[in-house]
Amino acid sequence: MTPHSLETLAFDNSYARLPEVFYAKVNPTPFATPPSLISANRAAMELLDLDPSEAMRPEFAGVFGGSLLVPGMEPLAMLYSGHQFGVYVPQLGDGRAILLGEVKNERGERWDLHLKGAGMTPFSRDGDGRSVLRSAIREYLCCEAMHGLGIPTTRALCLIGSDDKVYREQIETGATIVRMAPSHVRFGTFEIFYYRKQHEHLQRLADYVIEMHFPHLAQAPDKYVRFFAEVVERTAKLIAQWQAVGWSHGVLNTDNMSILGLTLDYGPYGFMDDYDPGFICNHSDYNGRYAFNQQPYIGLWNLSCLAQTLLPLAPKEELKAALDGYQTTVDRHYHDHMRSKLGLVAERADDEALLQELKSLMVGSRVDYTIFWRELGTFSSGPGASNERLREHFLNPERFDAWALQYRDRLQSEQSRDEERRVRMDRVNPKYILRNYLAQGAIEKAQQKDYSEVERLLTLLQQPYVEQPGMEAYAAAPPNWGKHISVSCSS
Ligand code: AMP
Ligand code: MG
Repeated sequence: MTPHSLETLAFDNSYARLPEVFYAKVNPTPFATPPSLISANRAAMELLDLDPSEAMRPEFAGVFGGSLLVPGMEPLAMLYSGHQFGVYVPQLGDGRAILLGEVKNERGERWDLHLKGAGMTPFSRDGDGRSVLRSAIREYLCCEAMHGLGIPTTRALCLIGSDDKVYREQIETGATIVRMAPSHVRFGTFEIFYYRKQHEHLQRLADYVIEMHFPHLAQAPDKYVRFFAEVVERTAKLIAQWQAVGWSHGVLNTDNMSILGLTLDYGPYGFMDDYDPGFICNHSDYNGRYAFNQQPYIGLWNLSCLAQTLLPLAPKEELKAALDGYQTTVDRHYHDHMRSKLGLVAERADDEALLQELKSLMVGSRVDYTIFWRELGTFSSGPGASNERLREHFLNPERFDAWALQYRDRLQSEQSRDEERRVRMDRVNPKYILRNYLAQGAIEKAQQKDYSEVERLLTLLQQPYVEQPGMEAYAAAPPNWGKHISVSCSS
């Protein structure tokens, strides 16, 4: 394969071929100051068959900083609505993001190039259409961190900075990030046509999504229900993965729910440090609607909003039956993940109790979630082993000892071998996650135009399960200042 240049990217813009009710055609608004490259993600460039050396051309920052178009791009802002914090908002849409076009790579995969921070669109409402460097870095790094963890997510192609001033709580600078996904259609894309009673558009959207992204269902007589059932399944699996890794989406509104079951729209989000089921990562979420332990339920709530929009297309009873499977799917996947995190191979009825007791111990001692699971891989099941390092995490080590005896028995019941188990556990218990304070360090340096930390974190987080010599400090618990960084919706 000859890699493409920017000018020869293979565009195939299926969304732009839909009727104009689905979007508004609009070009990015260039920054007043010249955009410059902060970081390009080689792995994502490869998905586009784009030659990695293209990132070095000034045109790269031009195109992905919103001041240049290349042949084949047909920029548009997608229309959608959604339920925000439980309340229906009749019109949202891409207020600061622009779909530049869809690239089809040689393997036949489609990738939306979605430029966030691209300037005003007809859907900007009171916003300025911009993103600040801080939030662009957070999204850029987390997309790739989640991908590294094996969690479905939009990908990030590049991060471009400018010296343009953007006004938030303080004056910041504007930046863009290019997100990639096979589609950026959201639950809210369905909601807008349902609530506007434009059922022909709703059906067109459903047919389009099925044809492009669920082609195996296209000929099925009950394709809408089966499509919905697959969205339920994907969403359930996704949220189970978030729960297992200790991650929360801070604004789990229906407009931020991907129809493909991807993690989408990283505003306030967070990996928990200390284990705390009530963890709220968005400091504007006063009632904890999107608290960590609420996320599975919110997934169901959002899916029921989606089901409602499909009522004109599918029988209510069948949609309801699909929805009824949600909780079981979340539980099944969550328990599968947690069993692997414990290093267990077989499935036993009392594993749930073993896990519950461990979680209750962790809450009581505010144990660092990620560090503990990683260290659990070193558990010695030999007779008389004290597992001193693990027990030090707990305020009540005797209660941990009691748990450790049960765990040891459980391991022995399946002839678990310590060394083998550790290798397995290291593949599911990450060493490196994007803690808030690490992102904050990269942001503060980048605001001084030192982008080295962004690059270092990108490389580190793309392989979160692998020991990376010299990088141990990045696996440490946050220092005190880094524990309570508040992340708001302002971005
Ligand atoms: P979000 O909370 O980022 O998911 O955004 C919710 C809605 O507000 C979407 O329609 C966004 O496009 C829009 N929005 C957020 N920030 C801005 C901004 N600075 N300018 C214009 N629209 C925005
Ligand atoms: Mg959003």
